[in-house]
Amino acid sequence: MELLNILEYPAPGLKRKAKKVTDFGKQFQALVEQMFATKYGTESCAALAATQLDLPDAPHVTVIDLSRDNTAPMCLVNAEIVEREGEQNEEEGCMSVGCNIGIPTHAKVKRAYKIRVKAQDRFGNALDFWAEEYFAKCIQHELDHLQGKVYLDHLSSIKRERLEKKLAKEKTRLIDD
Ligand code: ZN
Repeated sequence: MELLNILEYPAPGLKRKAKKVTDFGKQFQALVEQMFATKYGTESCAALAATQLDLPDAPHVTVIDLSRDNTAPMCLVNAEIVEREGEQNEEEGCMSVGCNIGIPTHAKVKRAYKIRVKAQDRFGNALDFWAEEYFAKCIQHELDHLQGKVYLDHLSSIKRERLEKKLAKEKTRLIDD
């Protein structure tokens, strides 16, 4: 299966807002398969949101698998966070911000520790569950993507500038090599 292209910051496509999914038919199922194939085919990739991918119309979908052996695929469609509890401040990286092109870039981001999520699965069945810690952080990161945000948007302007400079410098170095 052909893998989808992961957009790299500051690609304008990363600012798109995802479109609500209403048709869970064949074409949509094929897209979900392709998203999973892209996720599993990308090293150290825990999750992907449709807006991170080179798609003409990004639907409100994220694919996640936090297991070490790729045995826990999870697809969230039209997901929203309906309750939040507590706080965590952990390191985050992003496939669209350096990580996929060999520039591992990370920063601490404040997130809710625990969230209640309402969503649909890939077939349109309703989901309603609590997630916490790393899982909660990951879902919050992906849902940001589907609203056109990257984790850099949570940082202070000083931290953000520092990271952007590092990214730009490393990219130039990659091109020179
Ligand atoms: Zn990301």
